[in-house]
Amino acid sequence: MRAIRVDATGGPEVLTVVDVPVPTPSPTQILVRTDAIGINYIDTYFRRGLYPRPLPYVPGDEGSGVVDEIGSEVTTFAVGDRVAWAAAPGSYAEYVLVDVSSAISVPDGVPADQAASALLQGITAHYLIESTYPAQRSDTVLVHAGAGGVGLMLTQLAVAKGVEVITTVSTDAKAERSAQAGAAHVLRYDDDIAARVREITGGEGVHAVYDGVGADTFEASLASLRIRGTLALFGAASGPVPALDPQRLNGAGSLFLTRPTLAHHIRDRAELEWRAGDVFAAVASGSLTVEVGAHYALEDAAQAHTDLESRKTTGSIVLIP
Ligand code: NDP
Repeated sequence: MRAIRVDATGGPEVLTVVDVPVPTPSPTQILVRTDAIGINYIDTYFRRGLYPRPLPYVPGDEGSGVVDEIGSEVTTFAVGDRVAWAAAPGSYAEYVLVDVSSAISVPDGVPADQAASALLQGITAHYLIESTYPAQRSDTVLVHAGAGGVGLMLTQLAVAKGVEVITTVSTDAKAERSAQAGAAHVLRYDDDIAARVREITGGEGVHAVYDGVGADTFEASLASLRIRGTLALFGAASGPVPALDPQRLNGAGSLFLTRPTLAHHIRDRAELEWRAGDVFAAVASGSLTVEVGAHYALEDAAQAHTDLESRKTTGSIVLIP
């Protein structure tokens, strides 16, 4: 089968196409023929070496496809079932081994590309809005990178709860997409974000900021919060933030700062099924639109990473094997 492999960390050019044997499932795994592979920003952190990972490795954790073979102890899935996953290392490949504990059935009517994009970013949006800061009706929140994969889903989930959403984006086209997803106010990074947020919120500031951009937005995020507001710093698309003296949280209004990660929000099968079930039910009913902004052939993985890192993409992006 064809797969993408990283032999040394670096730029997008380290993503190379290789021919490798189709793997065999262990007793608790299923072998899936991939129909679409989700590309996530975290894939670029591993590729660059920002997050360490033993080399060589096949990137990617997310995708959707059809079960081709099942392990000897698997009873919950059968050959031919449509499945998706957000935690199967080595997903940039024509065949992927998925532990049954990570596999989720794809509802009828959800296309393969949306299924391959919905889980990792959708569950992230779900835990941020339901668990990290469980936003309430009539709260106001700020979402950075509002037209990105997580950003569009988080905006829609928040708006569905009756939350007022302010977003930041870099271009007119992204502003339009973010507004279509329900953002009431769309700002630019070169606006005085905190001042604009104070204007919009009658001087109070927002209840929560969901910040996946990091270095470039962190200070504005802190300055945009109301007293006892929550900053959920969940990514670093513009780079990691510098160290912070906790005393600053006191001076800025007894703020809450957290740096959450997906794995701690899908700790067991019940929690995964709850979040994935909510996300897929919303997609199947049409209340959550998964925008797949671009499809790339598997062998064009390097181009996909280049576009993602140069902020050319909107919504989610996928590889098609
Ligand atoms: P996106 O589709 O949101 O792509 C990243 C976006 O960040 C870009 O489109 C761009 O939007 C914005 N951005 C701002 N500054 C920069 C910069 N200097 N370089 C590149 N992009 C920049 O990606 P994802 O939806 O996959 O991920 C969004 C964030 O969420 C990432 O930080 C990711 O690591 C994080 N994440 C965290 C998880 C967790 O559990 N902690 C799980 C999943 C994702 P614009 O052009 O509008 O600025």
